[in-house]
Amino acid sequence: MRKSPTRADMNGMGFCGPDPSIEHGCIRCGENPQVDEQGYCGRCHWAVRAEVEEGSARLGEYLGAWARFAEWCTQRGREV
Ligand SMILES: [Zn+2]
Repeated sequence: MRKSPTRADMNGMGFCGPDPSIEHGCIRCGENPQVDEQGYCGRCHWAVRAEVEEGSARLGEYLGAWARFAEWCTQRGREV
């Protein structure tokens, strides 16, 4: 973990943001410039995308399990 400087430290160093060369930082890490319309940097764009895809894959498994359960119940003449 790097030490985050106080505002006084920043003013002493002549700037008042994490990186003066980055006008609009990434909304996730705030360290890299935004490159997509959601406001993520290149690194976070892919990281978030992977998380979303993993989430929808899990949802698919979950719904698939329910579908198999419904099928199992139907085969045994039970109501879901
Ligand atoms: Zn980022």
